[in-house]
Amino acid sequence: MLEIERIAGSGSVIRDPDIRAAYSHDESEVEPHLADAIVRVERGDVLALVVEIAAKYEIPLTARGAGTGRVGGAVPVHGGIVLSTEKLNSIVEIDAQEGIAIVDPGVVLADLHAAVEAEGLFYPPDPNSLATCTIGGNLACNAGGPRAFKYGVTRNYVLSLQAVTGSGARLNVGRPTVKGVTGYDLAGLIVGSEGTLALIERARLRLIPRPESIHTLLVFLPSDESIGEAIQATLRRGITPRCLELIDSIALGLMRRDAGVAIPEGAEAMLLVELDGDEALLERELERVADAFNAAGALEILSAQSSTERERLWAARRELSRTLRGIARFKLSEDIVVPRRRIFDLLRRCREISEESGILMPTYGHAGDGNLHVNFLWDDPEKRPEVDRAIEALFRATVEMGGTLSGEHGIGVLKAPYLPLEQSSELITLQRGIKALFDPSGILNPGKIFLTERKGHGTC
Ligand SMILES: Cc1cc2nc3c(=O)[nH]c(=O)nc-3n(C[C@H](O)[C@H](O)[C@H](O)COP(=O)(O)OP(=O)(O)OC[C@H]3O[C@@H](n4cnc5c(N)ncnc54)[C@H](O)[C@@H]3O)c2cc1C
Repeated sequence: MLEIERIAGSGSVIRDPDIRAAYSHDESEVEPHLADAIVRVERGDVLALVVEIAAKYEIPLTARGAGTGRVGGAVPVHGGIVLSTEKLNSIVEIDAQEGIAIVDPGVVLADLHAAVEAEGLFYPPDPNSLATCTIGGNLACNAGGPRAFKYGVTRNYVLSLQAVTGSGARLNVGRPTVKGVTGYDLAGLIVGSEGTLALIERARLRLIPRPESIHTLLVFLPSDESIGEAIQATLRRGITPRCLELIDSIALGLMRRDAGVAIPEGAEAMLLVELDGDEALLERELERVADAFNAAGALEILSAQSSTERERLWAARRELSRTLRGIARFKLSEDIVVPRRRIFDLLRRCREISEESGILMPTYGHAGDGNLHVNFLWDDPEKRPEVDRAIEALFRATVEMGGTLSGEHGIGVLKAPYLPLEQSSELITLQRGIKALFDPSGILNPGKIFLTERKGHGTC
């Protein structure tokens, strides 16, 4: 570590056990692991040199933004170094004319939103952790969020990246302009690679014009089954809401007390819907979506346009994950995706799995793109094997329905054992080969995505 201290400054290398403990976990149930040291970098060139030194001594290196990940991605399961980008956090440039933002990885997403919107522009990706999560973590996980249904995910807004591979090579990947197809799309490959191929040092992001107006609706429905009908009725009318969030009957029952809004008698499911765009157009769309929800049997529709009212309708949804965490001693949250028309089938299968296993399984999520957060809540530690069986049953059902294991959280540690349920051994081997090209000594975030054996490592 002396070599790293020399380049990063002695205050940047932290061995204090309490601080190491604070960096030993993320927002998942992955068992905490202590790193040998935390390195807080403040400059991109220093980040690159730290990777180079780690490569020379074959020290595992786990990048960390804010540690809000849900699959153990930032947990240093093989020890070594946790490289924190929290101080590498400048918004370097917002070019309103070109619609481009250049940012460091440690920028908190909400800060980027505020800065961009002050210029009349819009950066759509909005994971619900936006108040704390960082751009680096968003890029590494290809974060989505409620607005992904209309606007797409993080990858859709990446023009180019400055990134450092596991052998210390500092690369510019992607394109400098809004359009460009020169060579392989390595920026697209690094986005979503969960810190296993390269560490992201800086990003050039695409911005779009800020929508003129936003309107939020909270729709109470009589059953889980009516969720599917309401979604199809909306889409059939040619409307793409910017958000279409569902809360199923079990989650709604659990949040009834703390919802912040009165939930009508008989309501068994809820949709949070947001439309945006030109004011005059919105008025017409609002009438048509209300018509769609009424046709699906809506019991009540609450509507909000001012930012305070909208925030009130959103508060319960944003806090749902934490509310559920307070209900049971243990909570695991999966983020599977199924084709939209199979959402109700998936909810029904969740009920069956819950009955068979005795595990409470409230579900909510981004209904527009079929991305559901299925939660597993339990109190008795002895129940863990049943939880694992229930998770496997959920994953098998998802794949059978033509879905995928993760819509936005990534594979990390938690889903690595299940990867072969969805992907062939040939595909996994090919991806391992790509990892070996980027990271020949396997130092970057070992133990993530693919199961790997733990091995000893050097010191510097
Ligand atoms: C309440 C709550 C709600 C959430 N809602 C959503 C949601 O709606 N949508 C969604 O997509 N996610 C959601 N998440 C998950 C999480 O917030 C996202 O995955 C987020 O992108 C992680 O950002 P982070 O800065 O916390 O990254 P971390 O947790 O610190 O790291 C995540 C991964 O990124 C890697 N990484 C971090 N920085 C870099 C870098 N500079 N270079 C290379 N790799 C790097 C890490 O090694 C790790 O593998 C939610 C989490 C919580 C707790």
